[in-house]
Amino acid sequence: MSGARNLLGQGNGVGLAAGPAHVGPDPFTTATASHSGDPHSLAAAMEAAIGDLKALIDVSEPRSRDVLEFQVEMLSDPAIRDIGIERPDAEADAVLAWVSALEEYVAGFESSEDEDIRARAVDVIDMRNRVLAVLDGTKPADFPAGSIFVGIDIAPSLFLAHDWSAGGGIALSAGSTASHVAMLARARSVPMVVGLGPIPVEDGVRLLVDGRQGNLVVDPADGDVAAAMSLVTPAAETSVPRGLSVGSKIGDDITCLVNIGHPNELAAVPAGCEGIGLLRSEFLMTSAADLADEERQYRLYGEALHWAAERPVTVRLLDLGGDKTLGGFDAAERNPFLGLRGIRLLLAHPDLLRVQARALLRAAVLGNLKVLLPMVTVESEIAETRRIFAQEAEILARRHVMARMPEIGMMVEVPAAALMLDRFDAVDFFSLGTNDLAQYLMAAARDSAAVSSLYNQARPALLRLIRQTVLMAQEMGKPIGICGDLAGDAETLAELLACGLTQFSVAPHQLAALKTGLEHAKTGR
Ligand code: PEP
Ligand code: MG
Repeated sequence: MSGARNLLGQGNGVGLAAGPAHVGPDPFTTATASHSGDPHSLAAAMEAAIGDLKALIDVSEPRSRDVLEFQVEMLSDPAIRDIGIERPDAEADAVLAWVSALEEYVAGFESSEDEDIRARAVDVIDMRNRVLAVLDGTKPADFPAGSIFVGIDIAPSLFLAHDWSAGGGIALSAGSTASHVAMLARARSVPMVVGLGPIPVEDGVRLLVDGRQGNLVVDPADGDVAAAMSLVTPAAETSVPRGLSVGSKIGDDITCLVNIGHPNELAAVPAGCEGIGLLRSEFLMTSAADLADEERQYRLYGEALHWAAERPVTVRLLDLGGDKTLGGFDAAERNPFLGLRGIRLLLAHPDLLRVQARALLRAAVLGNLKVLLPMVTVESEIAETRRIFAQEAEILARRHVMARMPEIGMMVEVPAAALMLDRFDAVDFFSLGTNDLAQYLMAAARDSAAVSSLYNQARPALLRLIRQTVLMAQEMGKPIGICGDLAGDAETLAELLACGLTQFSVAPHQLAALKTGLEHAKTGR
């Protein structure tokens, strides 16, 4: 007989997963001192890179040996090792500070009259990349594939670092279905239940997570698991209605786009989709080293642009802060959602923005790239960001690196920005971020189980504000779309259309339902 216990919470709508429990760390109390952006990790990565280089020298022919020896010399030189130490960002992220200081150092090489010195710039960049590659191997502590993560909450970085291809799920005592992790879990079809209260299990206990019903069964009988699994119809919710090409135009002017967190999600996007309305670039970053790695960013944006061909790819600048922490930038925030987040954090740490700006300016020549600024509150944030993009474009031009200035738009997710939209003449387009707009309108954190019922009552206030915002955008002659979760809410679609919205960006698995909803709206059935 089964000693199964049933705990009730809220599911993310995804389905079932069974597996052994893995009781994870509390993301709110886990020390971040050992993240890969700290000075010790950087020093260790330099030592490891020196070791790798020496091993290479032993097996290289003389010309390569010269280059490698030059790199070892540089990496062993205290002036180079400590080059970032005086920068304002050094305390928050030693890796980023080091990379940024090296950038300026390399620029000095590049502007030299002496060709030999100019040529050395490449070697310094290569040396930097070797150190970053070592740091890239430093991932957050993972947990066994196929297990059910159990905890108070789960950090997006931990979710992203984990291999979900072997199955598994998430059971949280707190959390919210509107959190970023819940969004990621939906995008990757990982069953998740939040708001379960205390979960009295130890590592290894068998669990059954039901993301549709929103419950967790502790120690289910074999028969219960088999019976539950047999009821699941894989991919039923993502299937495309017959005769309908997902994402193709419904009316003359309705556009359907997708929200993604990584180009590897594009394989699941049905053909015919009209582009990427939101690439949350912060989800590409799995370590502090990634933040400093321009080449890696350029490659990933390039992958998305290659997939899209002529279609638009809207990359949002890093929306770090709030519940998305990486690299120690969030250190002393008492109210992270109201503090240094999104564009505020980037402008406070311009080195971070400059790396991303260079990667984006370079990627813009590969296709129809647009850049979206998160958490914009006042116009000066646009002007300052444009200034930094222009400066980086100039540096790239001096280096004869191909680059292009992309269109620059802003998320409308702070109520003050929505109300004062007509002040933002300096942007090229707008995108409504209703997930954050809801939390700031209702003064109810999107990741708090305690106030989730308030958060879930945001719709009337949201719609009133959206109507007025869309009107202002139309008067300004600027395109406006919606990329928050409300865009995929079937019950709100007719009202969103009535507000004048014509561009919808939703998670890939919601495209089919969006398309069906738009068809119904069009035919009045
Ligand atoms: C939003 O706030 O609605 C949004 C699309 O961005 P995110 O969910 O990443 O904050
Ligand atoms: Mg947002």
